[in-house]
Amino acid sequence: MSRKTIPGLDLAVQNIFCIGRNYAEHAHELGNPVPKEPLVFLKPTGSVCYNNEIISLPFQSKDVHHEVELVVAIAKKGKDIPVDEALGYVAGYGVGIDFTARDIQEEAKLKGKPWSIAKGFDGFAPISDFVSSSEVPDPQNLDIELTVNGESRQSDNTKNMLFPVYELIVFLSSIFTLQPGDLIFTGTPSGVSAIQSGDSLNATLGDDLTKLSVFIA
Ligand code: MG
Repeated sequence: MSRKTIPGLDLAVQNIFCIGRNYAEHAHELGNPVPKEPLVFLKPTGSVCYNNEIISLPFQSKDVHHEVELVVAIAKKGKDIPVDEALGYVAGYGVGIDFTARDIQEEAKLKGKPWSIAKGFDGFAPISDFVSSSEVPDPQNLDIELTVNGESRQSDNTKNMLFPVYELIVFLSSIFTLQPGDLIFTGTPSGVSAIQSGDSLNATLGDDLTKLSVFIA
């Protein structure tokens, strides 16, 4: 099996960490409380796909939602990374979509089950080309937007993240040894909604930093 790579960076995808409820408006739109510490889950590497791919909706869900997110790629191994060194562990930034089978996730929440299935289908983690961290002096001041069939659905700025990138790296590395090629999906702003067969999705990050287009079969 060929390894999944991170476009624009000389790295293979390792772990895929994801953060839930990292924008207050999004936590509220789904009726969830704002977390006191980062809410962490993982996706399988098989969920990664790329710009211009066609994604098939799984038959197990009737309610797949888009969640556009800033995605961080980790450059080097690290454990218990201190605050003032955290951003030095970033190889680059991209934009991704944390596709979520909302009906499966809601049932999992009710029954206290994990989110792995709701978040983990093939194609549920498309990522853009990444730009080097040297080109992004401040990851907490990036516009992020998603359109569906040309209509804006999600539009926000990463300054509104509850836990900024450096805090996520500090927190994750207090638990997991971070590896080169680890990805962190940093949470979605408000405006999540269902996608349908035939939809065309376009995600953008910053002022033309990078973009991602995917199509729903
Ligand atoms: Mg998400």
